[in-house]
Amino acid sequence: MGKVTGFKEFEREVEPYRSPKKRVLDFKEIYTDHDESLLNTQASRCMNCGVPFCQSGEGCPVYNLIPEWNDLVYNEKWEEAFARLLKTNNFPEVTGRVCPAVCEGACVLGITETPVTIKNLEFAIADKGIESGWIKPVIPKKRTNKKIAIVGSGPAGLSAAQQLNSVGHSINVYERADRIGGLMMYGIPNMKLDKSIIDMRVDIMEEEGIKFHTNCDIGGKGKNSLSMEKLIKENDIVLLTTGATKPRDLPIKNRDGKGVYFAMEFLGQNTKSLLDSDLKDDSFINAKDKDVIVIGGGDTGNDCLGTSLRHGCKSLTNFEILPELPKERLDNNPWPIFPRVYKVDYGHEESREVFGKDPREYSVSGKEFLRDKNGKLIGIKTVKVDKDFKEIKGTEQTWKADLIFLAMGFLGPEDYLNKKLKLELDERSNFKAEHDIHQTSHPKVFAAGDCRRGQSLVVWAINEGRAAAREIDKKIMGKTTLV
Ligand SMILES: Cc1cc2nc3c(=O)[nH]c(=O)nc-3n(C[C@H](O)[C@H](O)[C@H](O)COP(=O)(O)OP(=O)(O)OC[C@H]3O[C@@H](n4cnc5c(N)ncnc54)[C@H](O)[C@@H]3O)c2cc1C
Ligand code: SF4
Repeated sequence: MGKVTGFKEFEREVEPYRSPKKRVLDFKEIYTDHDESLLNTQASRCMNCGVPFCQSGEGCPVYNLIPEWNDLVYNEKWEEAFARLLKTNNFPEVTGRVCPAVCEGACVLGITETPVTIKNLEFAIADKGIESGWIKPVIPKKRTNKKIAIVGSGPAGLSAAQQLNSVGHSINVYERADRIGGLMMYGIPNMKLDKSIIDMRVDIMEEEGIKFHTNCDIGGKGKNSLSMEKLIKENDIVLLTTGATKPRDLPIKNRDGKGVYFAMEFLGQNTKSLLDSDLKDDSFINAKDKDVIVIGGGDTGNDCLGTSLRHGCKSLTNFEILPELPKERLDNNPWPIFPRVYKVDYGHEESREVFGKDPREYSVSGKEFLRDKNGKLIGIKTVKVDKDFKEIKGTEQTWKADLIFLAMGFLGPEDYLNKKLKLELDERSNFKAEHDIHQTSHPKVFAAGDCRRGQSLVVWAINEGRAAAREIDKKIMGKTTLV
């Protein structure tokens, strides 16, 4: 424990984002440079609790050794802090940026005061490691003769690949998109996670000996595609980390036609165009001068707000079917459970800056898309709903819209890969496999990440990728040293 009285002396202070006024003008990251003296003070607030809830149970899903690196940052031993971080987390530079900080909801100091700025500290340690060249390829000294195919290159697939490669297995990662990274590449926008970070990681993993195959849709029809049967035949194990990519639709009147898009069409095309041509190729849905409505709160909805603002939309509204969350924890949401409380995310803050008001409208449900006689989208009719999502009579309202984005969650993995194989699915249509075991109903096929647990978080995908790697190693070698 760095400073015994740190938690009594200092208030919580998070590193600020760039000013909303400036950051909406570009797709660069929203963060400011790290402030070492602030971080040093904030690290000293950690009480080094006897039972650190932040790193276990309801806390960090990858069991980051949080009090240890807080102490090391306080004592300015950054390289050691970085080494501790890499013990549990394959991509701290990603979670440090995008994790909702499950750990902070379980911080013991948070019971009576505000929690330690754990995510901020992780972010700074990870960036310091990158800048200082402390991330090095770890090339296994000996190779086994075991071959593993990983389908999908999101955080679950990449963390499993790195773990399994580190113990000497030969790893091929197959990705249907043209770039590696899953939703870290084509979901989370650049302003939240700069894509050069993913490329840097992929380069290191290639040096470590992992082979990546892009534009390769397993079970699909393209010319580079391969069948699942072939992968199973030619490998010792196939690990599915294909994500929960089937979006929830809103099948109300006038759904068909231009103007209504799934959030991922909007976000994915935007990032691809940004990376391919700095948005000059016109291959994306442009919200410039448009009245935009985003249906669905959450991370995806918020990213649609941030992206629309950066295009220069004319107006912005965000429907949320749930009521506004309370400012403080309710009795049924006690510490150390993740707090379900009102939050202002970067997109909300930016909307307030540009349009002078928060874009969110609560307890609203879409009733009918409105189109003119030529089929052009002109708006949406909505109703208010009660806490059981039942329509409240007399609350119909019409809203003007040129573009509507559906960000209402995902319904498990797509079906085509499983057409012939017929792996058992769970009741939510995810691949059925127990957490921490990860074997599906096929003895050579494992599953991890969102395609097994349903739509979740990067940190949970890393947890699952690591756990699947451990179980696969155990299965093919009879024992494992992976954790
Ligand atoms: C817009 C958006 C924003 C988000 N923001 C955050 C955030 O801020 N913080 C956070 O923690 N989480 C966030 N999430 C959630 C997080 O990104 C996911 O939980 C996480 O990426 C899941 O990882 P995964 O490896 O299981 O799958 P994914 O990241 O979904 O990767 C799956 C990959 O498999 C590929 N694939 C699928 N089928 C095939 C096939 N047949 N052949 C070859 N490849 C295939 C897909 O193309 C994809 O690249 C966000 C999600 C979205 C949609
Ligand atoms: S990965 Fe997420 S939960 Fe874990 S320490 Fe980092 S911010 Fe906290």
